[in-house]
Amino acid sequence: MDTKLTIYNTLTRRKEAFEPLTPGRVGIYVCGPTVYGDPHLGHARPAVTFDLLFRYLKASGYRVRYVRNITDVGHLEHDADEGEDKIAKKARLEQLEPMEVAHYYTERYRRAMEALNVLSPSIEPHASGHIIEQIAFVQRILDAGFAYVSNGSVYFDVEKYDAAHRYGILSGRNLEDIVANTRELDGQGDKRHSYDFALWKKAAPEHIMRWPSPWSDGFPGWHMECSAMSTKYLGERFDIHGGGMDLMFPHHECEIAQSTAALGHDSARYWVHNNMITINGQKMGKSLGNFITLDELFSGSHRLLAQAYTPMTVRFFVLQAHYRSTLDFSNEALQAAEKGLDRLMKGIEALDKVKPAAVSTVDPAELETRCRAAMDDDLNSPMVISALFDWVRTINSLVDGKQTIAAEDLERLKATVHRYAFDILGLRDEKAAGAASGRDYVTPLVEMLLAERMQARAAKDWAASDRIRDGLAAAGIRVKDRKDGSDWELE
Ligand code: ZN
Repeated sequence: MDTKLTIYNTLTRRKEAFEPLTPGRVGIYVCGPTVYGDPHLGHARPAVTFDLLFRYLKASGYRVRYVRNITDVGHLEHDADEGEDKIAKKARLEQLEPMEVAHYYTERYRRAMEALNVLSPSIEPHASGHIIEQIAFVQRILDAGFAYVSNGSVYFDVEKYDAAHRYGILSGRNLEDIVANTRELDGQGDKRHSYDFALWKKAAPEHIMRWPSPWSDGFPGWHMECSAMSTKYLGERFDIHGGGMDLMFPHHECEIAQSTAALGHDSARYWVHNNMITINGQKMGKSLGNFITLDELFSGSHRLLAQAYTPMTVRFFVLQAHYRSTLDFSNEALQAAEKGLDRLMKGIEALDKVKPAAVSTVDPAELETRCRAAMDDDLNSPMVISALFDWVRTINSLVDGKQTIAAEDLERLKATVHRYAFDILGLRDEKAAGAASGRDYVTPLVEMLLAERMQARAAKDWAASDRIRDGLAAAGIRVKDRKDGSDWELE
């Protein structure tokens, strides 16, 4: 292991030297998406942040088991314990099986992640595939005395837990604040206190996603899947738990409480949180009209977008900010990222034009040292990018012959640049790679034709609509109509 990584631990609120529990091996658990809608800009940041961590640990010689879950059950409309299941609701509206919805959006998510060059995790467990483990985990909490059964549901006893372990250690809240901020009155519904949360919910008659349990036919609480699945795949103690800052409370706080209640200790050694993406200074939200999906970004088909942005532009944009800083999306910022990425890729391509000389006037070890120090300092990707930019200038003076480099140093420089730009930052040279893995020329064109076709259909010009569909089919693109538009895929 040649890394001296320090990482900011949200739990202790300071940077700590990273020491894995088992030498040479690292276990990471990251909360993944709830699969009831298209992946959006907000998904890009945690995905790229923890991909950077995954890549850096692997490049540093660790064996990493990276678990990122898929939430396909138990995430209710109002996040806490009330409302319809988000996936069941979508299924009801679209007249589909809930698992069709989950499968469809899981595939969409994977496709977007591939486009962003986010590596596939080691394990991607689904909540619905781990009901048995979740029931067993709930039972452990009941056996430990930190939960109670009420009318077929099981709730976590926050007050009792707080007296034994203190609830709120991650977010820095205490129970009095939480009580003061809760509008709900105690004694309503099945819970003893408004701040208690569901470990298992008895399903109402109309609720379609349900499983048998010792307490009722029902479904697990949203927080339960992460405690159960992290324990199953990483053990009762593991190294890093990650996720977006928005998950810190209540989700991660509840995970800590569940694991501590069942196991006697928190499972994760380091809690790592990425900051959020805002859009022109505003929080992203469907009601604000600034909700941008990744497909819309890649095709430019959203009224807030001045143009299409390639997946690598989006990735570079995310990496240009430190993961704990806020990141504000705007067309100007994305256009600047596009230019920056282009300059970096041209610099890397120019390396092939450098002719080795007898002696070196530059030292590539400087780049290696700077990049490693930056990554070791809590994954400081903007500092890595700035070091690479300094070396783009150096590469240009090597091409111009203003500086010289010996053959051995040139090889070393190429290896270092490739290692940091491609292996660790995970960038891809979209232009050089050509059509196969490079810039997507197809998506914006197909989207444009489909928009034409929608217009034709609205005007009841069925001939024009069919002509576009058949033309696309002849080009190997299959169009599938939905109620509110159409999808397409390559045959
Ligand atoms: Zn989680």
